[in-house]
Amino acid sequence: MSGDITDAENRLRLIRQHFLAPQGAGLRADRGTRATEPGASLRLDVYDHMAAAVDETVALASTLCDEQEPYEKPPTRQVERVYQWLVDETPHLDEERQQVRDALIYRHSLEHAILIGESDIIRRHPCPACVTWGLVWDQHAEQVVCWNRHCAAVDDDGRPATWTLAQLAKDHIERKTRRAIRAT
Ligand SMILES: [Zn+2]
Repeated sequence: MSGDITDAENRLRLIRQHFLAPQGAGLRADRGTRATEPGASLRLDVYDHMAAAVDETVALASTLCDEQEPYEKPPTRQVERVYQWLVDETPHLDEERQQVRDALIYRHSLEHAILIGESDIIRRHPCPACVTWGLVWDQHAEQVVCWNRHCAAVDDDGRPATWTLAQLAKDHIERKTRRAIRAT
């Protein structure tokens, strides 16, 4: 299993275990119903995040396999296994489709990392335009920003270059593929 898949899987497992672990019934009763409400809505957000990630991954499997039925049903309990499932379901993809698949897994890994408070991971990526290490995650705008003032992608008004997580993931996978080609 490649490191990217392991990372995505581990983070989604952490989200599932940490956020959806049942709380002690006694604790909940002590606090009263009202006090648990904000927690409940947070949990709902997290549940939506997990469900959306799984749905998108399963949907991509059918797209990549020309709508064929999957060999194995996607995991429903240990949902983080959906990434390995996707790879197992799509063993003979051409390079273009392989990159689409790998970029989805990598984007999810970034999304999971941000949700569990590890948005610093964005800094470990070079900017797709200027290839320097000036990237940060803008939590408010939910996008990646390059703070290098000389970035190739700064617009005419001097606004910093911004990237979606999908763009960053695609760039990451393309770089990785190029490195692999050079290494052979
Ligand atoms: Zn840049």
